[in-house]
Amino acid sequence: EAHLRAIEALNPRLNAFTTVTAEQALAQAKASDARRKEGIAGPLEGVPLAIKDLFCTAGVRTTAGSRILGNFIPPYESTVTANLLRDGAVFLGKVNLDEFAMGSSNTTSAFGPVENPWSRANDPDTRLVPGGSSGGSAAAVAARLALGATATDTGGSIRQPAAFCGIAGIKPTYGRCSRYGIVAFASSLDQAGPVARTVEDCAILLRSMAGFDPKDSTSAEVPVPDFAAACARGVKGLRIGVPKEYRLDGMPAEIEALWQQGLDWLRAEGAETVEISLPHTKYALPTYYIVAPAEASSNLARYDGVRFGLRVAEKGSDLKDLYERTRAAGFGAEVRRRIMIGTYVLSAGYYDAYYLKAQKVRALIKRDFDEAFGKVDAIVTPATPSAAFGMDEKQDDPVTMYLNDVFTVPANLAGLPGLAVPAGLDAQGLPLGLQVLGRAFDEETVFAVGTAIE
Ligand code: GLN
Repeated sequence: EAHLRAIEALNPRLNAFTTVTAEQALAQAKASDARRKEGIAGPLEGVPLAIKDLFCTAGVRTTAGSRILGNFIPPYESTVTANLLRDGAVFLGKVNLDEFAMGSSNTTSAFGPVENPWSRANDPDTRLVPGGSSGGSAAAVAARLALGATATDTGGSIRQPAAFCGIAGIKPTYGRCSRYGIVAFASSLDQAGPVARTVEDCAILLRSMAGFDPKDSTSAEVPVPDFAAACARGVKGLRIGVPKEYRLDGMPAEIEALWQQGLDWLRAEGAETVEISLPHTKYALPTYYIVAPAEASSNLARYDGVRFGLRVAEKGSDLKDLYERTRAAGFGAEVRRRIMIGTYVLSAGYYDAYYLKAQKVRALIKRDFDEAFGKVDAIVTPATPSAAFGMDEKQDDPVTMYLNDVFTVPANLAGLPGLAVPAGLDAQGLPLGLQVLGRAFDEETVFAVGTAIE
């Protein structure tokens, strides 16, 4: 009830929730109370969560932040949200995102932009973005509208909004969480994960969200460890890699200072820091912005006005006309841009030059990490190249917007776990985050290092 009241008070300003399921939440909470009384409480019994509106929730509208799914009510539950319900969680509602999770500012949603709850810390006249695409998830948690939230990360959409909103968030190893029932963006990059106020809360949530699922062919059949226990392990004797290619020209001095501060903290706790090289880092952004739109253009072909959501038809016209009208009315500008880029790089005559080449570079980026993780146990970098920016900034130039993802996309291309940890404030009092990367399926070390920084 306290969280529902907080949503009522603050959501009109933040626009974090697209759908509030108050009645359902209270019924779930009642059932939780009953289970507690019976002594059969699950690990998340009664914990109020927000669900990114990209996860299908049975009987609850799931929009993907798009007009084309504006009236879509899934008849089934995603595996991740089903796992959370199994463990006793209470769902407060669905939270806003960039349309189809494409963006870094949560300004492309058909349901309007989300505001970063830290906005006023900066300047009363400037409304700041919460980051994206999981801007609603991060804003809801940072503003105390939910104890935690589900999110997804294709190129940084968990870590970047977490960093912008001063909270923690982890993209686990590709295959750790089932993608079943999550609206697909780029299937070889998409991963679900939690955002929460602390690293330990993320660890608790991830344990419930993760696990093998036969309904997702890329789900990994590996045991799910007690991630929360790993938070307390400490970092004594760990080797921490510091990739020199992440020291970007023109990076704000305070980001560099924060990075050094984080490394100092780790050394003080007994870790050793080592400079490493990830030589193909500079190709990660262009590679990502070929692979992700290519897969998106293929995944989004299913929104044709026939099977899901919106249908715009003219009486007596043909099927092609139905497709064109529906897609023109249903998709926003950024989604259309991605579909066009993706269709182009996959088309005959360009496939080898763009898509195939990007896949080869992706293999080289992955190999960089394999080599680095032969020498170090984790890698620490800044999470983002800047703090949260104003809502009106970077909107007219997509390439400037894409630069936000420079530190986060390599982990998706390589399938590795990446955690954003709140680590400090900039000169204006806005939160900054550091990123911890780890070996595939070694989220435990990532959590230990993140806890030491936090
Ligand atoms: N900002 C990136 C993009 O626009 C990442 C999005 C994401 O991780 N879903 O594609």
